[in-house]
Amino acid sequence: MTSREERRLALFPDNWNLLVLEKKEAARDQARHPLHELPREEELRSLGIVSPDSALEFPSGSSLRGRASFVDRQYLAPLVDRPLRTSEGDRFLLISRRNAPDTMDPEECTVANRVFHLAYWDRASRFCGTCAAPMEMISGEMAKQCSACGATSYPRISPAVIVAVVRQGKLLLAHSRRHSGKMYSVLAGFVEAGETLEQAAAREVQEECGITIKNVRYLASQPWPFPTALMAAFTADYAGGEIALQDEEIVSADWFAPGELPREIPDAYSIARRLIERFVSDHGTPQDLQRLLSR
Ligand SMILES: [Zn+2]
Repeated sequence: MTSREERRLALFPDNWNLLVLEKKEAARDQARHPLHELPREEELRSLGIVSPDSALEFPSGSSLRGRASFVDRQYLAPLVDRPLRTSEGDRFLLISRRNAPDTMDPEECTVANRVFHLAYWDRASRFCGTCAAPMEMISGEMAKQCSACGATSYPRISPAVIVAVVRQGKLLLAHSRRHSGKMYSVLAGFVEAGETLEQAAAREVQEECGITIKNVRYLASQPWPFPTALMAAFTADYAGGEIALQDEEIVSADWFAPGELPREIPDAYSIARRLIERFVSDHGTPQDLQRLLSR
């Protein structure tokens, strides 16, 4: 990974999307705000990164503002994580948005997530879902209105739950087909229509592993706009059942002691990792926690 100092500019590809961030005001400290200067639009085009008329801008209400452009990922894939240079000699780097927290500060990450989510919604709500007429932005509000029937559209947020289940000092972790390599994580899934968050947590654990849970307690939340989720994290106690993989999503699952966690677990910035750290903090030794935090 290129260090912050070497990287003056950064763009964030995600599948077929490209997100560009830039500062609203002149940076006082270039080293702390390496996203200040960006390649000009024409330069991005000459590199094959941005197509004309694809750029969208959103105010973010912070000192940063975002600009999102949409491109096909086939143009981005060969460029990711390789230092690039514009015709004026400015260096920049395309990084995966999932890895952004490694190189961006929390405010930049928040803006990146917000801009991505809004850009996704903007693209997905060009026409009215009721009458199919074009939608138009409402001024002063992040919403759109149908030019014909007046129906409104707000950015869609999809609630999801993620839950850490503990049985006699061991944590339930599963390897899902969604995850690459041998990664194990706590169980997660989208909330269904008519469910409470707690009911969704209980259903997901039951469906995926055949385990029933009790004492479901809310811990924290995290926006996860890949593309539109909001994760609500819970802890829970084992109530009954034995592990039985009932869902084709899960390849394997087991109970893990704090000192015997799988080698591959979610990255540090994810709420899944926070749940795992919380478990080790509550049920492990100080050495177990230290080992985990130094990974
Ligand atoms: Zn309409």
